[in-house]
Parts: sequence; structure tokens; C-alpha cells
Amino acid sequence: MRSPSRHTKEPRNALRDQVRIATKRARRFHRPGSFTEEDWLGLCAYLDWRCGDCKRRAKLYAVHMTPLRFRSARNDIWNIIPLCHACRDSYQAWQEGR
Ligand SMILES: [Zn+2]
Repeated sequence: MRSPSRHTKEPRNALRDQVRIATKRARRFHRPGSFTEEDWLGLCAYLDWRCGDCKRRAKLYAVHMTPLRFRSARNDIWNIIPLCHACRDSYQAWQEGR
């Protein structure tokens, strides 16, 4: 049976896709760097599985802090912040100048 609080009980399954998605996005912009599931899950755990902006406990998305359109941006863990869906959307909209 699936736990209702799967983001805290099953963080690996719920969040591991974010590493692949962030890496794929970085490759599209030809940005170097990589991080592991351990890096990502460690960062989420450090933030107590809360959004890095609004602090709500929600599904977390790996967002590049330095926008990938910048040549200096890297796909490294220190350029990643876990954000909830709403914060990710507003941050990326701001990054893209929308
Ligand atoms: Zn948020």
C-alpha cells in the first residue's frame, strides 16, 4: 500500500526523477556538471523536505539557481534549489524574463 505522505516516507521514489530532469535540461543548454541522487536527496533532507522558498512541504523540483541560459551556469548541486511547483513556476518565469 502506498503511504499518503510519500514525499517523506518514500523520498527516493518520489524525487529521484528530478536529477534526470535537471540534467536533461542542462544538456539542452550545453551546461556542464552533474550531481547524484544522494546529493539531491541530501539537500532535500537538509531543508526538511520543504520548499526552499515558501517552506511548504510539497513535492520538490530541482531548480537551477543560476539560470541555465547564463554561460556560467552549471548543473552542480550547489546550483540547485528544491522548490515546490508554485515557486518553481514563478522563479522560472522570472529567470526567463516572462
Ligand atoms: Zn514554494
